[in-house]
Amino acid sequence: MTPLERAIRDRIRAEGPISVEAYMEACNGYYYATRDPFGAAGDFTTAPEISQMFGEIVGAALADCWKRSGAPADAIYAELGPGRGTLAGDALRVLRPAGFAGDVHFVETSPVLRDAQALTIADAQWHDAIDDLPEAPLLLVANEFLDALPIRQWIDGAERRVTVAAGGLAFDRDGEILETSPARDAAVAAIAARLVRNGGVALMIDYGHPESAPGDTLQAVRGHGFAPVLANPGEQDLTAHVDFEAVARVAADAGASVTPVLPQGDWLKRLGINARAAALSSGNPARSEDVRAALHRLTATSEMGELFKVIAIHSPQWPAPAGFS
Ligand code: SAH
Repeated sequence: MTPLERAIRDRIRAEGPISVEAYMEACNGYYYATRDPFGAAGDFTTAPEISQMFGEIVGAALADCWKRSGAPADAIYAELGPGRGTLAGDALRVLRPAGFAGDVHFVETSPVLRDAQALTIADAQWHDAIDDLPEAPLLLVANEFLDALPIRQWIDGAERRVTVAAGGLAFDRDGEILETSPARDAAVAAIAARLVRNGGVALMIDYGHPESAPGDTLQAVRGHGFAPVLANPGEQDLTAHVDFEAVARVAADAGASVTPVLPQGDWLKRLGINARAAALSSGNPARSEDVRAALHRLTATSEMGELFKVIAIHSPQWPAPAGFS
């Protein structure tokens, strides 16, 4: 039994069954605090870890939007859940030559990942929560951040809970599931309010669906494969698909402007990833097969191109970033 499973069982014995939200929060808090989960030796691989092209395209999109908004000198680069800092490193390699000289701010709760991020971006400033970010125009990115925030599940109007049954953890009910995520809504609302107050743009990239729909999307990944969500609590990555309709609604309710939701593959291609791949290949022919494979993983419908979605939220005073219309 994992150390966290023992703690969860004790908690359920003391308090009664816990919500899926409480379970997910406990599992992911422990999981990210205790490891670097990325890459071949870890549990999963994210887009920025596949290729530098991903972060470079993000950087190009932010640089263009920042320039068209008048290049405010007080703008900052901010990232939610920056992982190893790879995306930030690649994005800033494009943003800096474009003239962006602002500070770098990371919202990250994991001490292990903060250490990893410091190896890539030594002069970043770290925060525990979105509310701790400075009041400044934002060039913000959140890649696979919202999917890690806890969800609630509902069956026939009753909240689904995790309990102890026959020696293991079990759900207290089954049936058609509706998911909500107050934690995600709060994160999106906080970012949107800042964009309205101070200006800026936020790119949110995650796997999910463009329209709200019923369904159980809670999943666990371990060693690059799916695992039962109640197995090995705290030792596997728990995520849920992002409801982008809810993201757009919450942001609009806060007064921010919202772009359409695009499949990641379409967005990357509209922003020129094919040309970037060609340039990388001709600059280093020995790597051209790697570049081709990475391009395929990031953009193909059978890979990340369709399941992953991109939405931009921006200040009504700022132009929409390129690629969405
Ligand atoms: N964006 C990175 C990492 C994605 S994994 C990439 O694309 O590679 C999720 C990231 O969010 C990790 O860095 C994790 O530590 C962080 N995270 C998860 N829950 C968080 C929370 N509640 N507050 C801040 N960071 C969180």
